[in-house]
Amino acid sequence: MNYRDFGKTGEKISALGFGCMRFPEYKEGEKNLVDQDKVDEMIAYAYENGVNYFDTAPYYCNQNSEAALGHAVKGFRDKILISTKCPINAGMGADGYRKFLEQSLTRLGTDHIDFYHFWGINRGSFNDIIVPEGLLEAAQKAKEEGLIRHISFSFHDHPSAIKHIVDTSEERGVPMETMLCQYNLLDRSNEEMIKYVNEKGLGTVAMGPVGGGRLAAPTELYTKLTGKPSIATYELAFKFCLGNPSLNCALSGMQNLDMVKKNIKVASDDTAFSEEEWEQLGSAMESIKKFSELYCTGCKYCQPCPADINIPRIFEIYTYYNVYGLKDHAKNMMRDYKNRGGKTFSDCIGCGACEDKCPQHLEIRKNLEKVMKIFEE
Ligand code: SF4
Ligand code: SF4
Repeated sequence: MNYRDFGKTGEKISALGFGCMRFPEYKEGEKNLVDQDKVDEMIAYAYENGVNYFDTAPYYCNQNSEAALGHAVKGFRDKILISTKCPINAGMGADGYRKFLEQSLTRLGTDHIDFYHFWGINRGSFNDIIVPEGLLEAAQKAKEEGLIRHISFSFHDHPSAIKHIVDTSEERGVPMETMLCQYNLLDRSNEEMIKYVNEKGLGTVAMGPVGGGRLAAPTELYTKLTGKPSIATYELAFKFCLGNPSLNCALSGMQNLDMVKKNIKVASDDTAFSEEEWEQLGSAMESIKKFSELYCTGCKYCQPCPADINIPRIFEIYTYYNVYGLKDHAKNMMRDYKNRGGKTFSDCIGCGACEDKCPQHLEIRKNLEKVMKIFEE
């Protein structure tokens, strides 16, 4: 297993982190239960083969993930790092923070959490809840009492909010120590901020390194990007994430022992990733996009559309289909978009307002029609 310095936390973290959001489950009547025997086996194998970071959260696996993880690590709790998360709700205050923390400690069956995250925060929840309701101070107090060892956050917002959160926490005397955010070959929007916070000394963890399953689909993407023989897609995902020198750990939500074994094999191979290949993959990906016949940057200048058509989303789905070659996944994305009431070319009133505003001068109407035809087939 490869290990990295986890920012300035003083910890060494395994390059592969175990995401505990997809534990195997079964149904008993109406209830969804975790298959504890399988979880115990997967977690023990991961630990024995060097994985030391296990990331859970109160609501994962129908609220059973924390307890299942706690059970599985009983024999080696002090040799690993446990990460879990505090849900952020308006009005919760310091007492609410404490209540969630105590619940997690109980479920995990431990007296301390190594990395306790403000969960899935954004600029709004940081400014309107975390700061004014004294949650930073509540975290500091819990740290002083030894209930948590490091203060962390996980993030879902525009990347610029990361800087605001990290800098403001620091100014208020409760610096964030690690960050968990979305990052993968298909979504590099947080890349610059990962570098920024890592330079400031924060540990960095990527969630969704396989793009929420996207890269788990079979594809010839690696060959397309490098000209080399194709490799398994999860391997490509790790190559990209772990080649980034500012990133300390890539989480994978592992569902079975086979996945655990495969991921560990890649994360343990020193030759599997390098900064050089990371740069090569990133720039090859950019040029593939640029030279595709429909180069939508996702800038959203064409929005809003009077017919409420989410043009950048539709073109993004097409990019998955056409550029990345993830056809089945793109079809699922389109199905999902439509199921949620997403409008398509058939709703277009032909006003042309979008085309006047598109900096890429795309023939939006023509392309929307083309894309719709492909997905209707
Ligand atoms: S031409 Fe169609 S897609 Fe473009 S803004 Fe008008 S209604 Fe929306
Ligand atoms: S304005 Fe053009 S490039 Fe920007 S999101 Fe819309 S279609 Fe894409």
